[in-house]
Amino acid sequence: MQLFAHTPSKQPMHANNACKKIDYLCPECHSPVRVRRGAIKRAHFFHTKPTKKCISQGKSLTHLAIQEILQKSFPEKEVEMEVPFNSINRIADVVHFEKKIIFEVQCSSISSEEIESRTRGYESLGFQVVWIFHDSRFNKNLCQMAERWIYDRLHYFTNINAKGKGILYDQFTVLCQNRRLYKTERFPVRIQRPLILNNGISNRVFDGESPLPKILYERKKKARYHFEGDLLDRCKCHPLLVKQWIEMEKAATQKPWQKKRFSYTRLLNFWLKKAARH
Ligand SMILES: [Zn+2]
Repeated sequence: MQLFAHTPSKQPMHANNACKKIDYLCPECHSPVRVRRGAIKRAHFFHTKPTKKCISQGKSLTHLAIQEILQKSFPEKEVEMEVPFNSINRIADVVHFEKKIIFEVQCSSISSEEIESRTRGYESLGFQVVWIFHDSRFNKNLCQMAERWIYDRLHYFTNINAKGKGILYDQFTVLCQNRRLYKTERFPVRIQRPLILNNGISNRVFDGESPLPKILYERKKKARYHFEGDLLDRCKCHPLLVKQWIEMEKAATQKPWQKKRFSYTRLLNFWLKKAARH
């Protein structure tokens, strides 16, 4: 389901303004779609003849709710929803044209090949892609291959539900053989406040500050913008937190955790012992 469709004369039409008895066209697969709206469900288009190949068709109400929250976070007309990029045959969820940022929402499973292909496609047009994964499927103890691919690039998580309730957040995690060994608390991200990263070389957010954990340094190198409240933003004013994250990263590369089955208590004890030695 989706929020936009084309009229028979190829004009874009939002589901809120569409007429129930008219066949519209899916901008992605060009199949007929119709509008559906009810007292509880937000207005959306659905495919009258389901087709497996169309990504728009697979979007859930939760996906649409997150898209709308992203759009409403910005001043009016600053971002656009469901924008077609014909040269790479994609429709982006939310686009900030001035800053050249694309927000892609992902609530269902996806392969690492698809994540890579979409990301590289938009990057080839000069856009930075910010993936937002729903934590009902992602951010679990076992890191999926798609998340593994995106791990060293800026990405966030959300728990926003179909009614639009929830938050968008960033979380520091340490991976060991595709398992998340350690997670911090969730840090709410203010997506309406993009912050420019003007230096890809230094392993600090800004000169004179503490060095970054390796993974955040990688994310910084690959991004032009990050957002208020995210991990990179936290690094600017919380040196002790950063030090702790760097220790956690180091602990994860030590052999005890690779040989034995992981337990949080073991990791914590290991880290405390290590800290006590200093
Ligand atoms: Zn379609």
